[in-house]
Amino acid sequence: MAAAVKAEGYGHGLIRTARALDADAFAVACVEEALALREAGIDRRILLLEGVFEADELPWCAQHALDIAVHQPEQLRMLELARLERPLRVWLKIDSGMHRLGLAPETTSAAFQRLRACSAVQAEIGLMSHLARADERDCDYTRQQLQTFETATAGLPGERSLANSAGILGWPDTHFDWVRPGIMLYGASPFVDSLAPDEDLRPVMSFHTRLIAIKRLRRGEPVGYGGTWLCPEDMDVGVAAVGYGDGYPRHAPSGTPALINGRAAALVGRVSMDMITLDLRRHPEARIGDPVLLWGEGLPVERIAQAAGTISYTLLCGVTARVRREVLPVALADG
Ligand SMILES: *Cc1c(COP(=O)(O)O)cnc(C)c1O
Repeated sequence: MAAAVKAEGYGHGLIRTARALDADAFAVACVEEALALREAGIDRRILLLEGVFEADELPWCAQHALDIAVHQPEQLRMLELARLERPLRVWLKIDSGMHRLGLAPETTSAAFQRLRACSAVQAEIGLMSHLARADERDCDYTRQQLQTFETATAGLPGERSLANSAGILGWPDTHFDWVRPGIMLYGASPFVDSLAPDEDLRPVMSFHTRLIAIKRLRRGEPVGYGGTWLCPEDMDVGVAAVGYGDGYPRHAPSGTPALINGRAAALVGRVSMDMITLDLRRHPEARIGDPVLLWGEGLPVERIAQAAGTISYTLLCGVTARVRREVLPVALADG
């Protein structure tokens, strides 16, 4: 299993996440992330998902014992020309239908043979591809990608890897030798139509703040920038200390849920840089200082993502540096 810890472990902290996970390998997007892991003393395999961008990164990859993806002819040429202290572990990445990275499937065998002939490449070569639509439940496109991957790699000896989180949870035929979970490790659902609890996942991140003001407003008074929300009656509005400057989505509309003291409340008015405003009509007990959960245990991040027209990935990755991180021990569920 190669755990995707790119983008600061989906916003949870790269090193912290890698230390917490018992993975066979860690998957990252760039040499900077790989370097940070090695400098922190992480000695598991590290897979560079996009491979190197320049030939002069190859000796460095060899020195740090990285696994690299090779997804385009230019990278193949770099390896053929490279003279390294020790050979690299290489994953040949095939474009089975994502049409982003990867070699044309019909060229797989030829590329494999060329890699085999490289002194800079270890004898065992992996075969990988990436799924474009595994988050859709019953999708012919995923079946086609699987077929394309199987055909392209048939008869080649390498270990194979295709599944991301959605493939792992929804498409057992895509598992092969190595799975590459990302979002599910952080306790969010990869599917368009389900929430973490539906997949038996528990959120790793709980993003919370506090009420810093409570305002009594009159019927018809507008709340926040642009005055986009008007009080339908005389009511209390709570101000919570979080905004897009913390990574709370600017596009979350009125009605987006939060939990005040563990109970549902609705966002009203625009999200500002440092604050949001909440409807307190169903929270007569609310006091300044009360906890407000933005997402996490009890409020799946997918719901906020849905409301804001985005995906859980962007919300988790987007929590900004000024937000204080607190690492808590986990009480694992029974069994
Ligand atoms: C990010 C990534 C993954 C993990 O994807 P999730 O949807 O988060 O599970 C797997 N494989 C590749 C190539 C990736 O870039």
